Amino acid sequence: MDKLIYLDNAATTALKPEVFEAMKPYFLENYSNPNSIYTFAQQSKKAVEDARETIAGMLGAKTNEIYFTGGGSESDNWALKMCVEALASKGKHIITTKIEHHAVLHTCEYLEKKGCEITYLDVDEYGMISLQQLEQAIRPDTILISIMFANNEIGTIEPIREIGAIANKHGVWFHTDAVQAFGHIPIQVDELHIDMLSASAHKFHGPKGIGFFYMRNSVKLGAFVHGGAQERARRAGTSNVPGIVGLAKAAELAVSHMEENGAKIAKVRDHLIERVLTEIPFSRLNGHRQERLPNNANFCFRFIEGESLLIMLDQKGICASSGSACTSGSLDPSHVLLAIGLPHEIAHGSLRLTLSEETTIEEVDRVADSLKAIVERLRSMSPLYEDFVKNQS
Ligand SMILES: *Cc1c(COP(=O)(O)O)cnc(C)c1O
Repeated sequence: MDKLIYLDNAATTALKPEVFEAMKPYFLENYSNPNSIYTFAQQSKKAVEDARETIAGMLGAKTNEIYFTGGGSESDNWALKMCVEALASKGKHIITTKIEHHAVLHTCEYLEKKGCEITYLDVDEYGMISLQQLEQAIRPDTILISIMFANNEIGTIEPIREIGAIANKHGVWFHTDAVQAFGHIPIQVDELHIDMLSASAHKFHGPKGIGFFYMRNSVKLGAFVHGGAQERARRAGTSNVPGIVGLAKAAELAVSHMEENGAKIAKVRDHLIERVLTEIPFSRLNGHRQERLPNNANFCFRFIEGESLLIMLDQKGICASSGSACTSGSLDPSHVLLAIGLPHEIAHGSLRLTLSEETTIEEVDRVADSLKAIVERLRSMSPLYEDFVKNQS
């Protein structure tokens, strides 16, 4: 087997050794419950509160506006479900988009069954929502706008500042699933008028199963997990101290190197895009060319079945994805690619490659070479492609 090339950083990232080192003492030396009153527990309590301060500082938020959770999915669930409860007297209408992560979309479907009304905004061919459509969708009974910061499949970055301004103008709370964005692009909650935000450590080289929920103090959502008084009595359960320490350490590393890492990754990514689009016929790049996460490349190859492509890349030691890790295993094409207007047969031939700052030019060159050979091979076995070529000439 060739050396592994990991290009699925939108699904999860490698834990940084420095992050592991920061976490280790809270497994082995100070395993105390931060809520206990003896001196031994003071250190873990301090570690948790320092982490909270670190995260708040990065967002321009207040320390008591950060709640540690089990990750992105939990934070998304909290925002949506608890908003419905908190604003029951105002209404039951939520605005979101067709391209959200399933943590938002499936929660919306659940809420629809409970009597909520959801508007799913369209996106254009690049995955961008229309601000005009958003504003027109707002009604007196609208309780929440939930729009992702950046899309996990095609990397498109939504106009968050403008969305926040519209939400603010109409007095509607604005939640953003920033799981792909936090640690990768700058976020200041006040400037962007964000009222709630979800993030997850394992998407920026931190540990899995830990994330945070930012909730502005003026937004008073109820407890999501009942029990002990942890997280200001809103999310019960003994604090995941090593996870929280790892989250903060990973965030520190990500944010302090954000600009240089972003530029470095985008350069390697653009080389990959350039090679694929020029060397592989009938390939297209999905997502926005500029307003895009620096690590994301998402392609469609006509006359190719995405799953076959993934299996053949895997045989060459290349980890890639056809869309989101959560939908793999199902044969439905990605809801995001359908939302940007791709027909089923083209959406089926999709490939998502997501890089990290560790990804080298040599690696993406190897991927481009492999991809070229694999696409050629798969097309040579496709009667559709044969017909197509015949008709072309
Ligand atoms: C990964 C991801 C999630 C889910 O986060 P978990 O921490 O794995 O629960 C939610 N939203 C987006 C956009 C994601 O990429």
